[in-house]
Amino acid sequence: MTDLLKAIKAIVVLENNSNDGTYLSGECPFCEDPGKSFTYSPGKNIYYCFACHKAGGTVEKFESDFLTRSPLDHYRFIESNIDLILGDLKPHLYYAKLRNNREEINKILITMEYLKKVASALKEYDVTSGSEDTP
Ligand SMILES: [Zn+2]
Repeated sequence: MTDLLKAIKAIVVLENNSNDGTYLSGECPFCEDPGKSFTYSPGKNIYYCFACHKAGGTVEKFESDFLTRSPLDHYRFIESNIDLILGDLKPHLYYAKLRNNREEINKILITMEYLKKVASALKEYDVTSGSEDTP
C-alpha cells in the first residue's frame, strides 16, 4: 500500500466500485458531495473528485487539499463521521474515568456534547434546505 493510499484510507472509506479494480471510490473528504465522487486509482496512485475536481498524487497534496476545505466542509466532515469521532473519544473517556481525572472527564464530555450539537445542527440544516428539492 502506498503512503498516499494510507493517508486516504485514514479518513475515507474506499470501495471497489469498478469491475476491473482500476479505481476505488468513496465520499469525498474535501467537498459536500453526498455521492461517491472521490476516486483513487491504485495503478496511477492518484486521487480525483468528480464533484470538486480536487486531484493529486502525493500525501502532501492530499493533506493540503484536506486542510484548505471551507469551514463548513470541516463541520460537514464532523457530521458525516460523528460516530467514528465519538467512538475515538470513548476509550479516552474510559481511561480518564479509571484514573478518576475529573478535569479530563469534563473536557471529553463537553467536547462530545459540542460535536453532537454540531452534527445535529447540520442535519437540521440538511432537512430544511433539502426540502427545496422535493416537489
Ligand atoms: Zn470533492
